[in-house]
Amino acid sequence: MTLQLIDTHCHLYLPEFDDDLSSAIERAENEGVNKFYLPAIDSTVIDRLLETEKRYPGKCFAMMGLHPCSVKENYKEELKLVEGWLGRRIFSAVGEIGLDFYWDKTFTEQQYAAFQEQIDWALHFDIPVIIHSRNSIDECIHVVRENQRGKLKGIFHCFSGGLQQAKQIIDLGFYLGIGGVITFKNSGLDVVMNEIKLDKPASKMILGQFSEAIFILAIPFLFNRIGVKKMLLMGMVAWMLRYVAFAYGDTGANTWLLYAGIILHGVCYDFFFVTGYMYTEKKAGEKIKNAAQGLFTFATYGVGMFIGTWFSGYIVDIYKIGKDTHDWTKIWYVPAYIALGVLLYFILFFREKKQVKGIGPEYENFLK
Ligand SMILES: [Zn+2]
Ligand SMILES: [Zn+2]
Repeated sequence: MTLQLIDTHCHLYLPEFDDDLSSAIERAENEGVNKFYLPAIDSTVIDRLLETEKRYPGKCFAMMGLHPCSVKENYKEELKLVEGWLGRRIFSAVGEIGLDFYWDKTFTEQQYAAFQEQIDWALHFDIPVIIHSRNSIDECIHVVRENQRGKLKGIFHCFSGGLQQAKQIIDLGFYLGIGGVITFKNSGLDVVMNEIKLDKPASKMILGQFSEAIFILAIPFLFNRIGVKKMLLMGMVAWMLRYVAFAYGDTGANTWLLYAGIILHGVCYDFFFVTGYMYTEKKAGEKIKNAAQGLFTFATYGVGMFIGTWFSGYIVDIYKIGKDTHDWTKIWYVPAYIALGVLLYFILFFREKKQVKGIGPEYENFLK
């Protein structure tokens, strides 16, 4: 089976493509891209947008919406048009919509109003939203959070925020659009991509971070399906397996165990730390959320790491078998047993509350 790629955001209908649209599409198809989703901008492009979609049926799919940069004095008329189109036929998404404070802040208030109205339509027609945000990522996250009652879905297109913002977006059940920014020299993402070659020692650890990034995508999916307890359990089992893998892995025939251990890092981190962090947030409720998360971080990174560092020095000394050699298999077994102990304790004593006061119905599944 060949890989099927979808371009979720391309303005192929713009005049810039007048001369070479068909060859651009052909080139993309040769690379495996066979579907193209076209975000709207404003009334000036709607004809072109719909024509392009008609010209490439089953390949190009139109969205409908008012771009935040096109929110001006006449935005109400523009929105009327969008609303009219949304009621007339099915669109793939409402987009692109959002907030853009980079170019112009004159119409900030109107941008908020247009964003909200269009989110309402997306909810009404049960289609995704494509969010454009520039110098406004936290504001956009806030608006989505206000509207997220379990039904809103979509993409933060061309995401360029930080790790915390990425986690918040994923927590809201949204996708991140990783755009051309990844090719920028200072984005940091290019480093990960370039260095993921298995023959370099440092890149093995990047493999771990890479698996962290992959498994984090599974979180919103698994949240609703298997629930938090099973996810935490998976994280703990992964933790145990990881130490066992390190106990028997070597640079000879068992190298694969080392790689397995490194890759398991993603499951450990995402299913244990990230899920735990999110659970703490939900369980604590709005009022004491920050305090609870601070405690969580303190317990895991602060105290946990302090005790861990002290204890590991002690253990390593015990299993010293020569001047500079240690019995690493036995050393790795110590954290493996500790992880097993925590796992058993967790199975016996962890109870999830099905209903938590002040938490909306959208989180009930999560708490199951
Ligand atoms: Zn766009
Ligand atoms: Zn955009």
